[in-house]
Amino acid sequence: MKEVKTPRKPLLYYYCVALIAILVFNIFFQPMLERQKIIDIDYGAFMDMVAEKNVGAVEVEDTGIIFTNKAGDKTYKTGLMNDPTLTQRLHDAGAKFTRIIKEPMSPLMSFFLYFILPMLIFFGIGQYMSHRFMQAAGGKNALSFGFGKSQARIYVQSTKGIRFSDVAGEDEAKESLAEIVDYLHNPQKYSDAGARMPKGVLLVGPPGTGKTMLAKAVAGESDVPFFSMSGSEFVEMFVGMGASKVRDLFEQAKEKAPCIVFIDEIDAIGQKRNSNGIGNDEREQTLNQLLTEMDGFEDNTGVIILAATNRPESLDPALTRPGRFDRRVPVELPDLAGREAILKVHAKKVHLDKDVNLRTIARMASGASGAELANIINEAALRAVRHGRTVICEADLEESIETVIAGYQKKSAVLSDKERMAVAYHEIGHALVAARQSNSAPVEKITIIPRTSGALGYTMQVDTGDRYILTREELENKICTLTGGRSAEEVVFNQVSTGAANDIEQATKLARAMITRYGMSEDFDMVALEVVTNQYLGGDTSLACSAESQKEIDRQVVALVKREHVKAREILKADRAKLDELAKYLYEKETITGEEFMRILNAPAKTSETEEKSAATKA
Ligand code: ADP
Repeated sequence: MKEVKTPRKPLLYYYCVALIAILVFNIFFQPMLERQKIIDIDYGAFMDMVAEKNVGAVEVEDTGIIFTNKAGDKTYKTGLMNDPTLTQRLHDAGAKFTRIIKEPMSPLMSFFLYFILPMLIFFGIGQYMSHRFMQAAGGKNALSFGFGKSQARIYVQSTKGIRFSDVAGEDEAKESLAEIVDYLHNPQKYSDAGARMPKGVLLVGPPGTGKTMLAKAVAGESDVPFFSMSGSEFVEMFVGMGASKVRDLFEQAKEKAPCIVFIDEIDAIGQKRNSNGIGNDEREQTLNQLLTEMDGFEDNTGVIILAATNRPESLDPALTRPGRFDRRVPVELPDLAGREAILKVHAKKVHLDKDVNLRTIARMASGASGAELANIINEAALRAVRHGRTVICEADLEESIETVIAGYQKKSAVLSDKERMAVAYHEIGHALVAARQSNSAPVEKITIIPRTSGALGYTMQVDTGDRYILTREELENKICTLTGGRSAEEVVFNQVSTGAANDIEQATKLARAMITRYGMSEDFDMVALEVVTNQYLGGDTSLACSAESQKEIDRQVVALVKREHVKAREILKADRAKLDELAKYLYEKETITGEEFMRILNAPAKTSETEEKSAATKA
């Protein structure tokens, strides 16, 4: 898609402005500049110069005398005096002198200067003020002067247009949108059958999943103009401006029909109107205008409105009812195959080593959105350049996943030996607990290199495939793994540190969800005690139960986490030899792979008891 810019002002406009500027300069400033060169002197000095015969040309005006010296290089000015002999003295001095009688200004010129020009100035000021006023009122007339215009970016078909093939994965979304493309190509087929195309399609999903791309692809495939605008661009300081922008956008769209109008982040204007009377007038007026416009145009006019949001639950029901945004297309985070496909699409833009296995990378980047995957490829390319290469290898991609997840390596962070050892035990604790529970995902990599995100080390777990359902046992194992780090510190050093804050947060969240949302506690059975309020942006929840139940929930969450914590400690105590061996190995190597970890774990124990003890005391 190629963006079409609004046409520039015509050349004539600039000529007019230049002409007016020159005129104003000539009338007001030029004489002033000329005057500046004239030297003011008193009448006595003038008389002296006349006596000395040092005067050249003399002009006697109504208001004063302007004269030059004999050489003619200086101009002087003096006032008029009652001096009857001046004419004779000037004659004697040999000066050229004359009396200037100012011609009165032509009536036309004085009419223009004293009557028309002030009127023009006042008219200009009046126009400006009325523009501002209409802008504030959002009046229709404002449009004709360019105020309250929609400022939508308009794209037209170009050879570089985004196609469905550029959007990897998201097959369900594409299938749903393909129907719209077909309609725009062949509207007759639909009207023959009496079918009505949805006026609006709402793309919902987490940020960076390709909603904007999909909208552009629909326009690219259908070969129609594409108007793009963000919801926040409608909302202005003056009430009514947004509404006028909406009107303008739809006017433009109807002129260009068939076309696609895309409103990104529609929640900025489409939020639920509240009943407590404290509303945002501008936003509500804009929303009302949008609703009216959507009702206003006939079915099958060929204007399709696509809108994207990651907060569908906050939208006003009037907006999502049939007849307006009647179709909702979920654009979810990509699954394993989707991630691999997205990586492939973006890998085409860079030089990738032929040995790189994108499936492994896709597995490692579990939970990443399309935008994050695009970023991973770009970070890898940047890393390759930093190392003086043009070809990206697998190590670049692995490192860039860590960069995107945990930030850059923090080279300046100097941990003491004791701290490094504690971090090594902590990470091995997680990995060992994960590995010893049959249902836990295998470990891919363990590292104790500090990152800019604040992580002093981490264990990267990788699921072999996509998981859509997790059993109670698996969730419990996850909690157990999360407590593994702290457990290792307790088992080895018999003390606790601040290093487990993030694990604690995650374990609690999981345990809470098991009890309040997944119905995994005996007491509450299948009762929802919490509802998710923000599905696509962090999954915030709000409680929906009595104070007594809240107390009981808290008690059960603590009991569950405690149970798993005890389990993790037992596992580590039973495997103490391996824990020491692995922690020592990680301490020396800083980063170990899942394979190395499993090899050491599965090898027959070689550490003697004395070695074990010395490792622990050293730490
Ligand atoms: P959203 O509108 O959902 O926030 P965008 O459509 O703006 O996300 O996507 C941002 C970037 O992420 C795109 O420019 C593209 O590079 C990448 N991206 C996201 N999803 C995909 C996908 N399914 N296929 C290819 N690239 C994608």
